[in-house]
Amino acid sequence: MSGNSLYARDSAVNSGLQKLRFFPQEVVRGQGCRVYDPEGRGYLDLSASWGATSLGYAHPDFVARVHEALLGQAGASMLSSAVLPATALAEKLLEITPGGEDRRVWLGHSGSDANEAVARALPVATGRHRVLSFAGAYHGGTQGSMAVSAHPVQSHAARDCGLVAVPYPDPYRPFEGDPTGAALLAHIEALLEGDCPGDEVSAFFIEPIQSDGGLLIPPPGFLKRLGEICARYGILTVCDEVKVGLGRTGKLHAFQFEDWTPDITVFGKGLGGGLPLSAVVGPSALLDCATAFAMQTTHGNPISASAGLAVLDIIERDGLAENAATSGAKLLSALREKLAGNPAVGDIRGRGLVLGIELVGEDKAPAPALTRAAVYRAWELGVVAYYVGAGSNVIELTPPLILTGAQAEAGAAILAEAIADACAGRVDEALTAPFAGW
Ligand SMILES: *Cc1c(COP(=O)(O)O)cnc(C)c1O
Repeated sequence: MSGNSLYARDSAVNSGLQKLRFFPQEVVRGQGCRVYDPEGRGYLDLSASWGATSLGYAHPDFVARVHEALLGQAGASMLSSAVLPATALAEKLLEITPGGEDRRVWLGHSGSDANEAVARALPVATGRHRVLSFAGAYHGGTQGSMAVSAHPVQSHAARDCGLVAVPYPDPYRPFEGDPTGAALLAHIEALLEGDCPGDEVSAFFIEPIQSDGGLLIPPPGFLKRLGEICARYGILTVCDEVKVGLGRTGKLHAFQFEDWTPDITVFGKGLGGGLPLSAVVGPSALLDCATAFAMQTTHGNPISASAGLAVLDIIERDGLAENAATSGAKLLSALREKLAGNPAVGDIRGRGLVLGIELVGEDKAPAPALTRAAVYRAWELGVVAYYVGAGSNVIELTPPLILTGAQAEAGAAILAEAIADACAGRVDEALTAPFAGW
């Protein structure tokens, strides 16, 4: 890479505090499911910028709606005025999100500020001072959202909200060897009767699929049963749909795979289609518990809100949840077929267009160096994918919801080739060493 390459320029000026790099990716343009580097080379983006570009890049109808919003610019904030796009977006979110009668919507910029607003309002609204979440949970990167998270990358975070983290239901590495999750539920109940009294807990923060913690999909019925336990103690359930919601799993909401309706639903990433936007839908007792309490100047701005409305309209109009189900099934079966028999591939799991490939050594030991080499090689071959997990060993796929079946198969072929190359030691460690990921 030359000294004045885009990557070198970025290295010279942009802060490392907000970098999580897996290879020296340079992007100057995007179109559909592809991003392009300065030489015009296209890459199939199976991450979609961590799921943010739900409609792919430069979707023409999305561009038109955002452009229109900017031309008429209805203010820049909802803090001190009623604004049309923010109000219409809130109405739409209430319409599409199952839940009780008396609810409100809070609009923000990111999954982090949304989870933080919930975490801060909880003790005020409920008078309870403990919170539950799962080990490995990633609910954001601000102080208040890190306080309810338990991802290893955030070991430095202060947690003054009385957080107790329990293991996530992981069928590949089951708690007490019980893949049904029953032993884990019994453990949680014992906790609520013992060290962490249920009547002191305001809420349980739940990722319906734990993404950054390793792309873990709970066993069927687990979330429904967890919801029942929480209800017994008056513990509110907060479903963090930031990465896996809004069509990605093949249903509009990831929680709809279970006969369970959370009390509070949090949206982000794909809701803005690449623009900063998040939302909380929850009881007015929580979201109206104070005024001027959790706000930032451009919250509810008409550009982001219009982007969100466009995303929701296009997902509905073009049947993108259904597309996620069919393209995701193709991607999953192609990966399983092409990676069959490779002992380093411990597990391949997915639901719609959220998938994980877990790479392991002896006795399921996480294989982070192999995973790092595999995503690096995939990038060299023209596919963008990153990895997640407490063991840094799960390749995560969250492509745009417009991914076609042909793109799914092409992507699977390249990933299989990349993993084979990594396993055969054909990826130069000197190249991958500077990209430790997380
Ligand atoms: C990414 C993520 C967040 C944080 O969203 P940001 O937009 O990065 O603030 C919260 N929860 C989950 C499940 C996420 O994947």
